[in-house]
Amino acid sequence: MSKQEKFYDLLDTLRTGAEAAGTLALGALGLACEGAEKAAEAVRLRCQAARVEGEVDGKLMEAGEMVYATHTGNPTESEELLEKLREIDELKARLAELNETLGRKPKDAACPGCGEPVEEGARYCPHCGEKLN
Ligand SMILES: [Zn+2]
Repeated sequence: MSKQEKFYDLLDTLRTGAEAAGTLALGALGLACEGAEKAAEAVRLRCQAARVEGEVDGKLMEAGEMVYATHTGNPTESEELLEKLREIDELKARLAELNETLGRKPKDAACPGCGEPVEEGARYCPHCGEKLN
């Protein structure tokens, strides 16, 4: 099938009356919901990241107090301080992971017909008109 034929095929599909229109509308609705879910997920991750950041600050302050107490003649067991520093390391690793997830872009799908990137959920390839799943 030539590109032009595919294009007319696509137009025909779009013109196939109310039933097809209803299907297209439902498809669009599904996409909108998916978008909202992704946005909510990003908000959730951002809240989580902010909370972990707050925890790191708190632990750093506690560790700082331990170091300062040692300086003022009330030494903290070094094991206790090390444990605190380990907790900070773990929190920072978790924070880095969260930020990485937040910054990660969803992988672009490729058209099986022409190999061009297509939007997730698209019914037809915008480049060659190939019907997508
Ligand atoms: Zn294509």
